[in-house]
Amino acid sequence: MSLFLRSLAAIALVVAIGAGLDLYVSQPFAIWWFATVFVVYALVQSLFLVRLHHWSSLPRIRPLPAGIGPWRPIVTRLARFVRQETDTRNELGSELERIHAAVDRLPDGLVVLDRYDHVLWANEAAESLHGIFGTRRPIHHFIRQPEFVRFLEANESGSTMRVQLPNQPGRTHELRLHRTQGDQKLLITRDVTNQAKLDAMRSDFVANVSHEIRTPITVIAGFAETLLTLDLDDAARREYLGSILKQSQTMQRLVDDLLMLSSLESGADELLEEQVDLHRLLESLLDEARALSQGRHELSLELDGPRHLLAAPGEIESAVRNLLTNAIRYTPDGGKISIRWWVQDSDGRISVRDTGIGIPAEHIPRLTERFYRVDRGRSRASGGTGLGLAIVKRIMHRHQGRLEFESVLGKGSTFTLCLPEARLVPPPRPAAATAEPASESPTEQATADGAAQRSA
Ligand code: ADP
Repeated sequence: MSLFLRSLAAIALVVAIGAGLDLYVSQPFAIWWFATVFVVYALVQSLFLVRLHHWSSLPRIRPLPAGIGPWRPIVTRLARFVRQETDTRNELGSELERIHAAVDRLPDGLVVLDRYDHVLWANEAAESLHGIFGTRRPIHHFIRQPEFVRFLEANESGSTMRVQLPNQPGRTHELRLHRTQGDQKLLITRDVTNQAKLDAMRSDFVANVSHEIRTPITVIAGFAETLLTLDLDDAARREYLGSILKQSQTMQRLVDDLLMLSSLESGADELLEEQVDLHRLLESLLDEARALSQGRHELSLELDGPRHLLAAPGEIESAVRNLLTNAIRYTPDGGKISIRWWVQDSDGRISVRDTGIGIPAEHIPRLTERFYRVDRGRSRASGGTGLGLAIVKRIMHRHQGRLEFESVLGKGSTFTLCLPEARLVPPPRPAAATAEPASESPTEQATADGAAQRSA
């Protein structure tokens, strides 16, 4: 029966009893009956309402008071709503905890700011990066750089700035500001040290290439203009054309070296290994070096290592050629240049030693950097690109080897390509065991002389 019908039946029963009492007993009895029923009903209802009111002011986990009469179905329904709401709240609570735990594990710092730039919430990374503790404090109490204050004031959603945080020496962080709902903001802090280094390297590289290309282009343009505007005799014209040719060749070398370095560094080209006849290769490079030196230097070759090597022939040739060209360019006339191939400490070693100008010790650590030169003018005048040793180092890395060098200023330098044992192809006959490790290494000898040395 519905609540309404049941209430109607109860009222009808009370009225019927009252009417019966009026008819068969006396009117005062009927009046007492109605008054008693009304007072008892009002008391029971009030008592229930007091208990319900008390329940509503307590935490929700307390059970609802038992419903009386018409309240029973209402209380049952209310209890169901309360249970559902408690379940939903518990689910949301644990979801929120999971989100908090995940956000705390993020390496990026996250801070939510109110409209006055006070901290409302920060994850663990932000707390440790900026030393944030507690809430409701202005964010600029923790990030104190003046440019950050300006950045906040500009309040542009999506804007970024880079900072060096005092408790993160040597690292670069990017701050990103986003406007969120209401007037709140989300401040994200991300470590961009590697990105910043790459950016700096890229812009240095572009600046260097532009600088390297500008010089020959200026010279070519100058000579071409002179040839066009002046009426020169044959000898002068030939001299100018010769200069143009020389500068174009410098540019050509630069472009070739850049392309080679970029393909070596991209790693896109796999190492095309084969058995290289190193003896033949070094002999042919010696002939090439003799032609380049034009009798100005005394060149020699010692072959004490195995004949064959597992390597990319073009790359090994390019590495040795670079070292030989440098030796010729940085060794005054009459100097000695010796190439040696031998095995030491299981590594195969190809060294190019010269008695040239040498390299001051302070330049040694930076020698394999792109475009690094000890003497810019001298390198350019002799057609250098500043990329040779960077290329050699890269080639050695691709062969799991390394480039070692040592030098004494005014006395000469030794550059050595060290290749791992796995790349040495054992000689087919035992007789070839003559290629034994040398007893004394040039490295050790030169070091004893106080040479500056390095491996790259
Ligand atoms: P570059 O084209 O200028 O020679 P490299 O990368 O080959 O560039 O060499 C870097 C620098 O190292 C050179 O500019 C030069 O100063 C120095 N260098 C290289 N080889 C020698 C050497 N055999 N003797 C003296 N200095 C050398």
